[in-house]
Amino acid sequence: MNLFDVYPLYNITPVKAVDCTITDDKGIDYLDLYSGHGVISIGHTQPDYVAKIKNQLDQLSFYSNAIQNPLQVELAQKLGKLSGLEDYSLFLCSSGAEANENALKLASFHTNKSRIIAFDNSFHGRTSAAVAATDNKKIVAPLNAQQAVTFLPLNQIELVEAELEKGDVCCVIIEGIQGVGGLDEGTTAFFQALEKVCKTYEAVLILDEVQSGYGRSGKFFAFQHHGINPDIITTAKGMGNGFPIGGVLISPKFVASYGLLGTTFGGSHLACAAGIAVLDVIENQKLIDNVNTVSAYFFEAIKQIPEIRKVKGKGLMLGVEFDFDVAALRKKMIIEKHIFTGSANNKNLLRILPPLTINKEGIDTFIIALKESLVELK
Ligand code: PLP
Repeated sequence: MNLFDVYPLYNITPVKAVDCTITDDKGIDYLDLYSGHGVISIGHTQPDYVAKIKNQLDQLSFYSNAIQNPLQVELAQKLGKLSGLEDYSLFLCSSGAEANENALKLASFHTNKSRIIAFDNSFHGRTSAAVAATDNKKIVAPLNAQQAVTFLPLNQIELVEAELEKGDVCCVIIEGIQGVGGLDEGTTAFFQALEKVCKTYEAVLILDEVQSGYGRSGKFFAFQHHGINPDIITTAKGMGNGFPIGGVLISPKFVASYGLLGTTFGGSHLACAAGIAVLDVIENQKLIDNVNTVSAYFFEAIKQIPEIRKVKGKGLMLGVEFDFDVAALRKKMIIEKHIFTGSANNKNLLRILPPLTINKEGIDTFIIALKESLVELK
């Protein structure tokens, strides 16, 4: 059987990784400044994380959600403490799209309405209930015939209010910082106004922190830069450092009932062990402080490169923007300089999402390689 060929692949085969270094089958080391779309939060094969998963695997990897699992409780309590959202409840699932799917469902059940507001260039996943907008083409797969999605430009609150006034909107879903779309983000004034109009018109405010959460922005969740309290927050990627796990954080205004949500794999013993280990390492190694230190260093160091038009994003969720298509530059950085970076829908943007453990030397290596590459490509 062949693989269904949906991904263009670089001719590199990683076989091993430690912290921010990936080694391929030829023994070549690569600096990882992408974390596989922002998934590796605490560094590849972090020893405490590996030990915790191995230990759990020896005991019990999985059983049904209909049987007590104290690891889920431990994970929820740690997540509440570290994020400062102790009064929210946690529903565990296995991916970002699944988290968003459940958030949209909850919003619809709670309001008895079905229309969704999302934003241009947003990305919320690829399942049938999630909403995706890629390459500026709006791909919308509604939950049912009624659950249509309306896309609006970011930062134009009057357009959001005009839609909410119609009375049929169950929720507004927005990324803390846009990932795939190219690192655009709402202003603090916009997020605060969004919170207000959602309350006024009884629509649920969903913060998609699948990519921007877990410390990546320099706060536990990116919305925490804006002083708001969303009704629902979704998370995944960095939550498991490579183990598939997602979560829906639900504010106290929602009432749980048996059968309202459900999943087979979400919150398995193994997934919880991975999730707990990630939170322990983020806390013990003060990784959010590291994000802020290294991010400040990055913003300063990048000034040496006049070709850069702008640096977008926050913390270690960054987009370096040029005034040309960066495809050749990115390829050169990977193949010749052995540094992984990411691409975005904005073709002029190099995405930088390293493990949150990256240090200043890693940034220096990137800056040197970027300078050399820009000269060599002239
Ligand atoms: N939401 C955001 C903001 C994302 O960046 C992604 C994935 O890139 C998703 C949701 C979907 O997550 P997953 O691929 O785990 O389903």
